[in-house]
Amino acid sequence: VVIKATNPVAYAAKLLEKKGNQPRRLYIDFKNSYIEPRYRSPVPIADGLLKRIRTGQFSKETVRVVLDIESIESYNIFSLPDPFRVVVDMRGEKRSMTSSAKQAPPQTTREKAHEETLITVLREKRKNRPQGKTDAEDPDGPELSLAQQLGLGVRRIVIDPGHGGRDPGAIGNGLQEKDVVLLLAKKVRQQLIQELHCEVILTRETDTYLSLEERTAIANGNNADLFVSLHLNAHTRPEVNGMETYYLSLSSSNEAMRVAAFENATSELQMSDLEDVLKGIMQNS
Ligand SMILES: [Zn+2]
Repeated sequence: VVIKATNPVAYAAKLLEKKGNQPRRLYIDFKNSYIEPRYRSPVPIADGLLKRIRTGQFSKETVRVVLDIESIESYNIFSLPDPFRVVVDMRGEKRSMTSSAKQAPPQTTREKAHEETLITVLREKRKNRPQGKTDAEDPDGPELSLAQQLGLGVRRIVIDPGHGGRDPGAIGNGLQEKDVVLLLAKKVRQQLIQELHCEVILTRETDTYLSLEERTAIANGNNADLFVSLHLNAHTRPEVNGMETYYLSLSSSNEAMRVAAFENATSELQMSDLEDVLKGIMQNS
């Protein structure tokens, strides 16, 4: 939850335990503040972590923001400058209230068996891998992505242009990383929409600073299937060039990856279901 203010302001937070029909709640008081009436209506959340957020002019000089809690395990509250805002980072198990849980059909025995097959295949192939052989020596072609291995579709992509605002990123040739990645993100968005008909969300549209928590919150809050963070590096030697891509991978053998991709080709799952799939794999390994 991000609460923006027009100017830096002193704030204090307090957690109240459930009492009678009052739910467990976290309230934040902003001193010497005023909230416009149009922002005073409650915001329903109902995502399994929070029930809703209420805002109001608590007293003449204090604005109070109340987060009615459904179920959270821990939280972290901090402020960020330019523009001033208070960020509440909450963690916990999302319960049955989550929208994905509501939409997802109950897992059938067949699907369960299918998942177990994938796990077995990955383990078997890893065992069979010849000692000392690296991926670079593997003649079977390029590695398959995690999404390909798990047969997951990608429909909604969050593109994150790195840095922004007071954080320029790398600087070189009179260019700033934050400006180039923003331009690049907008071009990539256009191309993805035109060619792949994907839904694309940018973490920032302008030259503004975002914390890493805010960036990932945008991806998770939108239930994105893919999160791509764009960065550019600079080097003092002009002849240095190249490209690097970091991604999460499960399997270390090309053959195992191809088998997994083939096995999962008909999967109905989306990339946003990855967390549940990974949990299943962890529990079975
Ligand atoms: Zn960067």
